[in-house]
Amino acid sequence: MTASPQRFFETWEAARDAFRAAAAAHPNVGASGAIDILPGYTLDYAWTGDADAARVLVYSSGLHGIEGFVGGAVQCELLGDDDALRPGEGCAVLWLHSLNPWGMAHGRRVNESNVDLNRNFLPENQAFEADDAAYARVAGLLNPTRLRRLDPFYLHVALQVARHGLPTLRNGIARGQYSQPNGIFFGGDRHETTTRTLMDTVLPWLAGRERVVWIDLHSGRGARGDVVAFVDGAPTAAQGARAHAAFGDMLHAWEPGSELGYEMRGGMLPELARRYDADRFEALTVEFGTAGDIAIVKAMRAENWLFHHGPAASRGGRAPADHPLRQAMRAVFNPADPAWQRGALAHGHDIHRRALRLLTAPAPAVVA
Ligand SMILES: [Zn+2]
Repeated sequence: MTASPQRFFETWEAARDAFRAAAAAHPNVGASGAIDILPGYTLDYAWTGDADAARVLVYSSGLHGIEGFVGGAVQCELLGDDDALRPGEGCAVLWLHSLNPWGMAHGRRVNESNVDLNRNFLPENQAFEADDAAYARVAGLLNPTRLRRLDPFYLHVALQVARHGLPTLRNGIARGQYSQPNGIFFGGDRHETTTRTLMDTVLPWLAGRERVVWIDLHSGRGARGDVVAFVDGAPTAAQGARAHAAFGDMLHAWEPGSELGYEMRGGMLPELARRYDADRFEALTVEFGTAGDIAIVKAMRAENWLFHHGPAASRGGRAPADHPLRQAMRAVFNPADPAWQRGALAHGHDIHRRALRLLTAPAPAVVA
């Protein structure tokens, strides 16, 4: 028995090379290649199965940079397993590795313009501005220009929760803001290169299919070791029923006010579905849980301070990977914990079985 190959890496280059090697080694890979997002930073892709198939399953990783280490590991794990990779007659899988390669390379969740790409997919008729009043209330807390050694972040969060409630606070923080370019959850002021690439290059590859199932892989939210899936956009009753039949208990409600939900603008999958044809496009976000929301925001906030306001030697991405604040990001988005990593890969196989079930499910009667 051979030892299973390493799936988790500490650099974007190593993860990219592993994806390329896994795709090259698979006998069923058709077209593959790389798209430059920035000079030297690529989004890599590969097709398995018949690229002209009527039904296509898409796996994307790394929209949130550093979260791509887990998504990429799961992609390589599945590409390394022949049995898991028989999508069946009339089906194909499109693998998209590291949608935000610069963010992944720099251990950030955002891209090279400090943009949270999952807030950047606004429809053409919506301006890159929002009602940021709720964000403004917590902006000072989220984006300090000085970080104290004894940081009273949790105390201030507790006060905000007491005053406004957790759902309101979560919406204010995570909905996406368009007024503070150096702040966290900044949605940008134009469509970024990754956004345009997916809209203008990748989406046309999928034109005319009978069904597309797109699974976007993330990490962070949810209890450590858990995996949670959310249906994105505004699924029809039939789509909701199909997703529940395939994903069962793994599926959580996204709606604001639910345990894990919040309002969000500029999300990738809802906008891709709308541009494609939402009736033929089923979109799921999958999160490999590591920590609670507040712990995640704490790590993002400190790393964002380091990037924009830290000591000159650490600013602008110059901090070494072993800087404590970069390590804190890693701990909540890509923990170096073998048990968690093994669990994520096992969940990956489970997700794939469920995704194929969803891809090949007949269109059921609409459940009232
Ligand atoms: Zn994410």
